[in-house]
Amino acid sequence: MPSKVAIMGAGMAGLSCARTLLRAAFAVDVFEQDRNIGGRIATIRIGNDTFDHGAQYLSGRSEGFQAFLDEISGLGHAGQWAPRATSNGMRAEAQSQPWVVGMPGMSSLFRPLVEGVRVTTGRHVQSLERRDSGWHLWFEDQTSAGPFDAVAVAVPVAQARKLLGRIGEFAAPLADVHMTPCWASMVRIEEKVFPAQDVFTDMSETIRWIARNNTKPGRNPAGENLVIHASPAWSSQAEDADPDDVAAELWSQVSYALDLPPVRPSRMTAHLWRQGLVDRPLGKSHLYSPEHRAGVAGDWCLGASAEHAFESGDGLGRAIVNSLA
Ligand SMILES: Cc1cc2nc3c(=O)[nH]c(=O)nc-3n(C[C@H](O)[C@H](O)[C@H](O)COP(=O)(O)OP(=O)(O)OC[C@H]3O[C@@H](n4cnc5c(N)ncnc54)[C@H](O)[C@@H]3O)c2cc1C
Repeated sequence: MPSKVAIMGAGMAGLSCARTLLRAAFAVDVFEQDRNIGGRIATIRIGNDTFDHGAQYLSGRSEGFQAFLDEISGLGHAGQWAPRATSNGMRAEAQSQPWVVGMPGMSSLFRPLVEGVRVTTGRHVQSLERRDSGWHLWFEDQTSAGPFDAVAVAVPVAQARKLLGRIGEFAAPLADVHMTPCWASMVRIEEKVFPAQDVFTDMSETIRWIARNNTKPGRNPAGENLVIHASPAWSSQAEDADPDDVAAELWSQVSYALDLPPVRPSRMTAHLWRQGLVDRPLGKSHLYSPEHRAGVAGDWCLGASAEHAFESGDGLGRAIVNSLA
């Protein structure tokens, strides 16, 4: 009988972990609270328009992640985005690596990772219980799944603390990690009033990022679909604000910063990534306790990017394989 592992979270870390375990012939079940997989790498559809409101692009430095990006690009699920120059020279530096985006949306990036993996969506794991038979997962509706030989918790750090923070060796390291919120605003305008530039960074103390989403490969180029990210400081201070108010405020700040003529967006909404960006990572690829047969992974282990999440999930998967094989 293959060892059975349950993974909480179908983001980049959880699905990378799943693939590593599957390749070692483990039986893997992934449980995801949202209706969709991908976590903070996401595309939202609003009416006929789509917006990548979380991660903007993926780029790879490590061999493993670079190979993954080549794989998805080769399969036609991803393409390179080469935005026209940014306002502060960031492009020259950051684009020393190509910027890769999913096509037609960001969730396509996960296609090869979910192959052969059982993913159950719409299941929020509320607690974990270890019995003699193994690990059991409890959901909001008081139903459960299990037993599993090991569990991998691949969720943002606040949720990881709730699920496994009581394991002595995890408590202190998890308490040191910090993530900040990020407001994302999605704006549709019909008029072509933007300067001939596709990405704007650090425009003000409030506006950290503006992207013309419609300039990414595989998107509808008509009109302007804009994604605006607020700075961590502003997002933290506005964490409890109403999304409509946030969208209006960010649009007004963008109009001011870019000196746009008065334009009324045809759509405008905002989403808060409450556990959005990592500002103090763990400093290790993952944590795994062979004694408890439980581990944690996520971008927050190593840094703040999809590549970190990928490496972290793979690292946890290998640790589980080594301990159970
Ligand atoms: C606004 C923004 C912009 C970004 N831009 C970039 C970028 O341009 N490039 C880049 O590389 N990175 C970027 N990032 C970071 C990147 O999105 C993350 O590093 C990466 O997606 C993290 O993956 P993860 O699997 O660790 O976590 P997540 O993507 O957060 O996945 C965790 C999953 O766990 C699920 N979950 C949580 N709790 C439970 C539970 N109790 N039960 C079941 N499921 C649960 C969540 O729903 C989620 O799907 C950005 C992030 C944000 C927020």
